[in-house]
Amino acid sequence: MTLQQGKRRRAAARALVASALLGAFYLLPWLQPGGKPALLLDLTARQFHLFGMQLVPEDAQPLLWLVTACIAALGLLTVLCGRLWCAYICPQTVLTRVFRGLDRLTTFDGIARPLGPLLRHGLWAVIALWTGITFVGYFNPIGQLVQALHPFALNGWECFWIAFYALATWANVAHLHEQVCTHLCPYSRVQHLITDANTPIIQYNAPRGEPRGPRGVGEASVLHRSRGLLDPVTASDYVFRAAHPAIAGAMPKFAPIHLGDCTDCNACLQACPIGLDIRNGHTSNCIECSACIDACDDTMARNQFPEGLIHRAHLADTESTTVRRLRVKPLLFAAMMALSLVLMYLSAGGPL
Ligand code: SF4
Ligand code: SF4
Repeated sequence: MTLQQGKRRRAAARALVASALLGAFYLLPWLQPGGKPALLLDLTARQFHLFGMQLVPEDAQPLLWLVTACIAALGLLTVLCGRLWCAYICPQTVLTRVFRGLDRLTTFDGIARPLGPLLRHGLWAVIALWTGITFVGYFNPIGQLVQALHPFALNGWECFWIAFYALATWANVAHLHEQVCTHLCPYSRVQHLITDANTPIIQYNAPRGEPRGPRGVGEASVLHRSRGLLDPVTASDYVFRAAHPAIAGAMPKFAPIHLGDCTDCNACLQACPIGLDIRNGHTSNCIECSACIDACDDTMARNQFPEGLIHRAHLADTESTTVRRLRVKPLLFAAMMALSLVLMYLSAGGPL
């Protein structure tokens, strides 16, 4: 797979998943197969409409088991594949990408440039308001809500919840961005409990990249030079010294022939929405969005180096940890998921 194919494949996967999720979110309240809402949580009538099924609160037990099965499935996905939820599926990520798309759309040269921020926030306010209406449309029939907009006949609670969700969407995405992931999201706090040494994470290949430094064009990658890869201890020593100059002192100047593949361009740092320097090591704040991979692969391409200085790999690949054939956490999550599905089936009136 070539560099551009790798980057294009990630971008296409993001666009595909985002379109599917946004399409499902905005369309579901409108769907009425057989004249019945596909998904409506009618709290006033104490009834849940779920794809043709009509449930009352007493029937909620199967739903609780379904939620448990979904949580176990998320754990299984995470331990096997890393934080794909954060990178591709989380509503915060998806909506932030939409907002950044608007940013690019409304940033253009010419007389419209000063209007860009106004246009962007205006468009985002409309999307946020429609998101608020859609949220409330999962609890009140959305057709009636929209009809009540003109002439205006929404009741107080409808106004409150629409305004609440619209404001939350607007502020979360336009102002808080990924700070929500770092400071509010419980999922990132429990990563160390969910994952194991075989879970893929985003990593910087220090033995290949260190010592870092700018160089002229024409130097080959260490993968094609006699220097080759450094041993991991020396590489992590260089990483530490680069990250802590006050403690370790300034790094010596290296001749281009001794430099690793990191050109110290800082593109990975600038691309990171959390402000992390992935070269200093993986942290639980990393949402594995792959922005640093894309940025670094561009730098590698400009220098005609092979891609993958920053890449997705298992900790076991890089920390001489023994790869376990029997992985306990995936088995536990799989068992929890299977058990929850069986209990859901039984509590919904299955045999036994
Ligand atoms: S370190 Fe890389 S993958 Fe992690 S959040 Fe930053 S840009 Fe995304
Ligand atoms: S983008 Fe790549 S080459 Fe540039 S500083 Fe980051 S790791 Fe080094």
